[in-house]
Amino acid sequence: MQPVRVRFAPSPTGRPQVGNIRTAMFNWLLARHTGGTFILRIEDTDVTRKVGGAVEYIMEGLRWLGLDWDEGPEVGGDYGPYFQSQRLALYQEAARRLVEQGDAYYCYCSSERLEEMRQDQVARKQPPGYDRRCRSLTPLECAQKESGGLRPVVRFRVPESGQTRFRDLIYGDVVFENTTIDDFVMLKSDGYPTYHLANVVDDRAMKISHVIRGEDWISSTPRHLLMYKALGYEPPQYAHNPLILGPDRSKLSKRHGAVSILEYRDQGYLPETMFNFIALIGWSLDDKTEIISREDLVKNFSLERMGKTGAIFNREKLDWMNGVYIRGLAPDDFARRVLPFLEKDLPTAVRRPLHADYVRRIMPLVQERTKRLTEVAGLVKFFFVDELEYDPPLLIAKNMDRSTTLKALEVSLSRLEKLADFSEALLEALLRPLAEELGLKAGQLFSVLRTAVTGETATPPLFQTMSVLGRDRCLKRLQEALARLRTVSS
Ligand code: GLU
Repeated sequence: MQPVRVRFAPSPTGRPQVGNIRTAMFNWLLARHTGGTFILRIEDTDVTRKVGGAVEYIMEGLRWLGLDWDEGPEVGGDYGPYFQSQRLALYQEAARRLVEQGDAYYCYCSSERLEEMRQDQVARKQPPGYDRRCRSLTPLECAQKESGGLRPVVRFRVPESGQTRFRDLIYGDVVFENTTIDDFVMLKSDGYPTYHLANVVDDRAMKISHVIRGEDWISSTPRHLLMYKALGYEPPQYAHNPLILGPDRSKLSKRHGAVSILEYRDQGYLPETMFNFIALIGWSLDDKTEIISREDLVKNFSLERMGKTGAIFNREKLDWMNGVYIRGLAPDDFARRVLPFLEKDLPTAVRRPLHADYVRRIMPLVQERTKRLTEVAGLVKFFFVDELEYDPPLLIAKNMDRSTTLKALEVSLSRLEKLADFSEALLEALLRPLAEELGLKAGQLFSVLRTAVTGETATPPLFQTMSVLGRDRCLKRLQEALARLRTVSS
């Protein structure tokens, strides 16, 4: 058995989406499952589509998910360079060889001519494709064109009959009639290869054993196989992954709320969640397991369990899964991960840097109900601000009025002032009986106090909240609440 060598070969034309990352992940999983090698190769030969910063973004996304590469940019390797733009001579050499063998030819058609041809084909309702005008130019004719200053492209000479077939590890037998494949360009007139040529040359040069890629590349595969054959190379094995679909079963897009990989990070999803979630789009362990660790994925991964049909991206499931992973974090770990979101999202008036110890004490109060790390700042804001903002009538609990609320606040304040230690147990021991003494339901008194100390009506449990806020803050806020309510006319 040949050792497994797989690659993720993104084109730096933008920010990778879930589909690209899933491709990277399946390659990585196969490599890790088999003890093989995972390679990152940057396919940057389409100069017009290159986007600045895209390579860095791709690498950061992979790192965030822990998809480490054994060969590629920054780490090097025996088969580099790993940027195709630094390997042009290899592609030119392959193209030259194919021309010499008669498997490829120079084409001098101008872009205007090709455009006319295309329009003509559309008008006649013919399939698009090069009409092969330059296919049988003699060397002399070529030389004449070149002396006139024309620079050719190199096209592959696709057989005019027969079939190209392969066994896809996911789709099974795939057959293409050669008549449906046009004489595609391999090398452009500026000496840059097209995707097809560079991909084949590098997969061969880098000893790639399996090509796992999106289904949208499946129609390129017969072209690649024809080139392998002409070059006398053994092709890799192919596994094309079905597309990811939105809930309406159309191709997943921004319209479905799908965003690029690091945006999920910025939206407060954990990398563990994304890893688990993306791996289960189109792959399953046993059709029922939803929560599966990275280790178990590596242990159990196999291409046989890849689905053949489009897999649905379910955002609600993602949120649910993130909640599961968040609840499973050790409290300190949760606090550590939330901290940057708090630094960023708490009101600007809150002094930075935040007190890590204080943050650590608050976090257990919200961890259980957090679905995304971005929600936390909103839930805990009142722990940090100096001034609460709320409408004073909010202090008045259900079935109470201004005067009963004022009384509840006054008595609570005087009792609490005498309490030296604001521990949860002591607060509870004081405040539960106090409600009864005031003729209130516990819920009513707690609601008044909650609004007074937090400015909100829904918060983590009251005694824990007061205990973390501390005596001074609580007493000050109760005094302020009294003052505010007194300004409200009865
Ligand atoms: N550069 C191609 C892409 O951007 C690679 C496709 C392949 O894996 O062959 O997805």
